[in-house]
Amino acid sequence: MDTEKGLLIVLSGPSGVGKGTVRKAIFDDPTTDFEYSISMTTRKMRIGETDGVDYFFKSRETFEALIEEDEFIEYAEYVGNYYGTPVQYVRDTMDAGKDVFLEIEVEGAKQVRRKFPEALFIFLAPPTLAHLEERLIGRGTESADVIAYRISEARKEVEMMNLYDYVVVNDEVLEAKRKIQTIVEAEHLKRERI
Ligand code: 5GP
Repeated sequence: MDTEKGLLIVLSGPSGVGKGTVRKAIFDDPTTDFEYSISMTTRKMRIGETDGVDYFFKSRETFEALIEEDEFIEYAEYVGNYYGTPVQYVRDTMDAGKDVFLEIEVEGAKQVRRKFPEALFIFLAPPTLAHLEERLIGRGTESADVIAYRISEARKEVEMMNLYDYVVVNDEVLEAKRKIQTIVEAEHLKRERI
């Protein structure tokens, strides 16, 4: 086993779960020694964001040309905008022996799974998901239709979780950060022993 190559770490999960906040906490921590892969997007820059720091902001035209040139490990359209992980930085950084961290939505994570099956996949789950089904049935306030719909949505999310190596419940940001750091450390030790 090649122990010199860096690990590809993928943090994903449903929208609104707080992936961005957990990712920021990870990179605000000076003990973190993985590199963040800055994504490319066609969405408009928000106030407080910087091009080349938060994202590489590109036009749709440029993004689509880069898709054609196979410049992305993965990309997805999310709420009308493209988001993608440029391949070059990830490869160069891993080849230099450093871990690379991606924070992406679930469709993109599936694509990474196909291209890099050896990557480490962490699913960030909302705290209520595991108990959602029981709570919905037990509560008895929702109509049967609404309960059925919510349960089917919750099941889809649970099934998605099964595709990941680890699930971290985002109860508390710093706790989620610590768990992710611990998972990465443990994963390194495990892989070194193989
Ligand atoms: P936002 O517009 O709020 O910054 O991000 C919207 C969503 O896009 C978030 O769920 C975020 O995780 C996801 N995202 C950010 N970068 C990428 C990327 O490179 N690829 C994919 N597939 N999703 C991304």
